[in-house]
Amino acid sequence: MRQLKYTNCFLVSIIGLYLLLTIIFWLKEQEERNLLSSQKMERLEGEYLVALNGYRILADFVFDHLINTPAVLEIMAAAHDNPQDRSALRRRLLRDLSPFYGQLATLHFRQLHFHLADSRSFLRFHRPEKFGDSLVGIRETVVAANRDKQRIRAFEEGRIINGYRFVYPLFQDERHVGSVEISISFAALIAELSRLFGKHYHFLLAREVVEEKVFVDERRNYSPSLLSPRLFHDREVQADTLAGTVMISAEKAQQLTGKVARRFAAEIADWQPVVLVEREDAMAYVVCLLPITNFKGESVAYLISFEGDRASGIFVGKFALIFVLLTLLFAGLLAFFLHLDRTGRRLETLSATDFLTGIYNRGKGYEVLCREHQRALRYGSRYCLIMFDIDHFKRINDSHGHPVGDDVLRQVAKLVRGVSRKSDTFCRWGGEEFLLLLPETSLEKAVLLADKIRCLIHQSSFDGVAPVTISLGVTECVGNTVPVDDVLWRVDQALYQAKQSGRNRVCHLAAPTTDKGQAAEGAMALPGAGRHGKV
Ligand code: GH3
Ligand code: MG
Ligand code: MG
Repeated sequence: MRQLKYTNCFLVSIIGLYLLLTIIFWLKEQEERNLLSSQKMERLEGEYLVALNGYRILADFVFDHLINTPAVLEIMAAAHDNPQDRSALRRRLLRDLSPFYGQLATLHFRQLHFHLADSRSFLRFHRPEKFGDSLVGIRETVVAANRDKQRIRAFEEGRIINGYRFVYPLFQDERHVGSVEISISFAALIAELSRLFGKHYHFLLAREVVEEKVFVDERRNYSPSLLSPRLFHDREVQADTLAGTVMISAEKAQQLTGKVARRFAAEIADWQPVVLVEREDAMAYVVCLLPITNFKGESVAYLISFEGDRASGIFVGKFALIFVLLTLLFAGLLAFFLHLDRTGRRLETLSATDFLTGIYNRGKGYEVLCREHQRALRYGSRYCLIMFDIDHFKRINDSHGHPVGDDVLRQVAKLVRGVSRKSDTFCRWGGEEFLLLLPETSLEKAVLLADKIRCLIHQSSFDGVAPVTISLGVTECVGNTVPVDDVLWRVDQALYQAKQSGRNRVCHLAAPTTDKGQAAEGAMALPGAGRHGKV
């Protein structure tokens, strides 16, 4: 029982430790993953701002030194004041700035677009023949620059290209005369990012933006993304970034995109920032999705970076390996423990069993007796003891040999075990002497059982051995505060009496009311063959 308790405790401890370690490593992995995710996201934001800032400085330089010149401002002021001269003025502006526009293209600027103060188009360098249309409701950045008379820098979707726009109001002698937009496409920005940071980038635009804003014949520039049906690829961007790819193949990027799509569908639908960290062999792949907001603060696009990081020093992704190792370690420990436990149990059984008869030995019998005795004292319950000894066993040994004597011992044990209850404890007390413990049994019933056993042995045939008889002593314990050895002494006395009074009989001794060995009134004995013996 105690062994079982220890076994259970140990098992619970091992499993508890295993679960605890698993949880600790899992939490550690989550913590590292979160930390890595926020670091990677901050880094992508930083990269985006660095690339953007480079263009902002360049755009400011271009504006301050090449556009915001007296000659250009004079043309725009004249156009502002004299609508009838605008055609001539437009041609002049186009002629004066064309060489410079060519240079802008080499710096990846896509648009140079002049507007009048009321936000009507005055001159598009990429489409000089198209002018006069109002940009109100179409190009918020331009309207805001003219309305607030302030420089505007923001991402804004377009009819042809999506880009980052720098819009500057134009003033001649502090008089607002129009505005000019210099913009870069996302393709340019992403090429710059690849060049600066050696990563693989993508740009995805919301499907509704493509459907609402882009000219129908320009939509072929966009294709649905693997990431979500709500997002469209800007083909131009893809072509540029693939050319600039350093560390990740297009197939790998596609595979990672599929994983992001499966794992973060909800986050993507909600325009959340997303970081995927995937560990493969010696590499850790990181995919970051940075939501891009437009001038109105609406999330309309994702900037995506793909990065292959050397895995050394990155804990993320090691959890699977640690989990497998931990499981193997604990499975081994558990198997070893169970083996030890089984061996322990076998040893315990062996140490409690009589080798010859297979019943309990004296040590175990005494242990059970002590426990039952304590129980009887504590709860005022009763038990009886029957001790019996084979009559003239020495003669059996002498005339038939020890092996036959052993067989007789085995057979007697088997017969008695057959008539005793499961709750009884039966043990070989020593030599040819046996003890039977009967919990919750009255002396009368114990005496009857003893006589039944005596008859059973007497009437059984033992291979070639003359009738075997036994003498039995019976006593009881009725919860008196006597030591257990007194009960044993009494049953031994009863057995002695059975021997003395002729063998093959039952003698009993009731529990004393006072002193050790003092028989209670009404003690009786059952002699063999129907005769009663008295102690
Ligand atoms: P009594 O009726 O007074 O009990 O006489 P007895 O001959 O049975 O008693 P005694 O104590 O003189 O002899 C017991 C014998 O039991 C002696 C011993 O050799 C034998 N014996 C004890 N253990 C074993 C055993 O394991 N196997 C065999 N075959 N004999 C045993
Ligand atoms: Mg004997
Ligand atoms: Mg004996």
